Amino acid sequence: MVTLGFIGLGHMGGPMATQLVRDGHDVVVFDRDSEAIEAIETAGGTGADSAAAVGTAAEIIYLSLPGPEEVKTVVSELEKSIEPGSVVVDMTTSRPETTETVAERLASHGATVLGSPVSGGTSGAADGTLTAMVSGDRATFEATREYFDAFTANVFYVGPDPGHGHAVKLLNNYLSNTALIATSEAVVLGQQIGIDIETMCEIFSVSSGRNSATEKKFPDAIAQGRDVGFALELMEKDTRLLLEFAEDKQVPLLVANVVRSQIGRTRTRYDDSGDMTDIYEYISEVATGAGTPPSDGG
Ligand code: NAD
Repeated sequence: MVTLGFIGLGHMGGPMATQLVRDGHDVVVFDRDSEAIEAIETAGGTGADSAAAVGTAAEIIYLSLPGPEEVKTVVSELEKSIEPGSVVVDMTTSRPETTETVAERLASHGATVLGSPVSGGTSGAADGTLTAMVSGDRATFEATREYFDAFTANVFYVGPDPGHGHAVKLLNNYLSNTALIATSEAVVLGQQIGIDIETMCEIFSVSSGRNSATEKKFPDAIAQGRDVGFALELMEKDTRLLLEFAEDKQVPLLVANVVRSQIGRTRTRYDDSGDMTDIYEYISEVATGAGTPPSDGG
């Protein structure tokens, strides 16, 4: 049986690793948080004491880390131990250029990198309905395709450049983050004249304004006062990576700058470690006169 490795067992990685264990795979895991490792051991996985130990034990290694800096750190560890013929599947929302760089570094050890960011949130990770956007060597993708079944409903092959999956993911999050902010503004304005949030979301979700916020984030979490499970810090990171990517390719993204400003204002107002739900809270506070309105129009 192929041994799978999993590094980064947070909101997304924890449930994905659990799904792999439940599907009957041998899974060796590492996270810098020992409690996250213990949770997967309880589910039937095997804990490792370092990323390098996962590199020794596993043939296919999944990463679900906060961002490109953590990916570089973990890949440096893997370089000490990874076996030729191994595959690293990076599901972090990362910088396309970083994926290309780590693919070159690991190729010098005989290992292959697939860029494979995922979409669908913590609920998709828990119920195995994520979308994966995979790029890199096609034959490696085909050979590892079956393991995606544990946590995905949709798997797309984007192309041979290992960074292209991460590029598509940044573009996707641009659309979903913009939709969350615009939907929050629309809902707050409707509430100001006494229309309830559930009625608006029900109508928007079957009308031309529908998006991932009207269909899922508002009805399933925000309208019920629950967190979405996606940190504001990660939302800001995604927008920063998108803007760096666009600048590098010299494509202006005007709306992305507005999105970044609004995330920054929300992080300043609340705890930096807040959930993306705080975007709605902040817009609501400003509308009801309790918060400081945006001053820069951006
Ligand atoms: P998270 O912060 O909950 O999890 C990250 C995990 O990585 C943590 O458990 C942390 O301890 C671990 N970690 C960090 N540095 C490490 C290191 N050097 N070695 C070992 N472990 C390390 O984040 P998350 O919400 O699970 O997101 C993970 C990735 O998936 C991010 O890139 C995020 O942008 C992306 N993503 C998140 C969601 C979501 O809804 N939360 C959806 C799609 C994609």
